[in-house]
Amino acid sequence: MRAARPSRRTVESDLGRKRRARRIGRLLTEAHPDAHCELDHSGPLQLAVATILSAQCTDQRVNEVTPKLFLRYPTAADYAGADRAEMEELIRPTGFFRNKTNSLINLGQQLVERYDGQVPGRLVDLVTLPGIGRKTANVILGNAFGVPGITVDTHFQRLMHRWELTTETDPVKIEHAVGALFERRDWTMLSHRVIFHGRRVCHARKPACGACTLARVCPSYGTGPTEAAAAAKLLKGPRARELAVHAGVDPDLVPATAVVSDAP
Ligand code: SF4
Repeated sequence: MRAARPSRRTVESDLGRKRRARRIGRLLTEAHPDAHCELDHSGPLQLAVATILSAQCTDQRVNEVTPKLFLRYPTAADYAGADRAEMEELIRPTGFFRNKTNSLINLGQQLVERYDGQVPGRLVDLVTLPGIGRKTANVILGNAFGVPGITVDTHFQRLMHRWELTTETDPVKIEHAVGALFERRDWTMLSHRVIFHGRRVCHARKPACGACTLARVCPSYGTGPTEAAAAAKLLKGPRARELAVHAGVDPDLVPATAVVSDAP
C-alpha cells in the first residue's frame, strides 16, 4: 500500500518524518540505480581538483577539461610547480579560471608542504586546504576515502526543503538534520541520489511532479505540473523514460530530446 502524502496542515511527528525520509530514500534507490559522483576522477587528488573546478560550472564541462589536466599534472608537486598561464588556458572553459588556477597551485603547495603530497582523509584537515570547503571535503571523503558524508549542494538543499525534512537553511545544520534521519552508511549514496533527482526530475524552476516517483510522499507535490504529459516533458537525462515508468507514467510521453539531453 502506498503511504499517504503528508498534509501541510498536520504536524508530523519526528518518527513519522524519519519513516517518510526512509521511504523517500528507498524510492530514490529504486529510481536512480545509476547514481554516482558525476565528476570523472581516479583517486583523491583528481577528485579534489575536479570539485574545485566544478564551482559555478557543470560537471559535464569539468569532465571535458580534466583528462588533459590530469595528464599534465599527475601529482600534487606538479600543481605546486605549475606554470600559471598554461594552467589557466587548460581550465579556462570552466569559468573563474584565474581564481581556480590560484586554488589549484596553492592546493598543490599546501599538500606538498603539509601532507607529503597526499590528500588527507580527515574533514578537519581537508577544510584547511585552499579551495576546499565543507561540501567539497564531504565529496572527497565519501567518494575517494569511503567515509560516509552528506553533500549539501543547491539541489540537496532545495529538495530537503521541498520534502520538508528540515527547515534549516545553513548547509552544516542541514547536513546534521538530514544525517539524523538516515543511516550513516547511506549518506554518500543518498547524496548522489538526491542530486540526481534534483537534476533530472525535481528542477528548481519546473519540477516534474506529475512524472515523479515521490509524488505520494512529497508535501510539495503540485509545485510543478501534475498532468502526466506536461510533466513527462520535464524529465531529463538518458534514463528519462525509465524515470517515467517508475512514476507510473507512459514512457512514450517523454520526448526524444529529453533522453539525449544531459542533466544540468
Ligand atoms: S513531487 Fe514534485 S516537488 Fe515533490 S519531489 Fe517530485 S518533482 Fe519534486
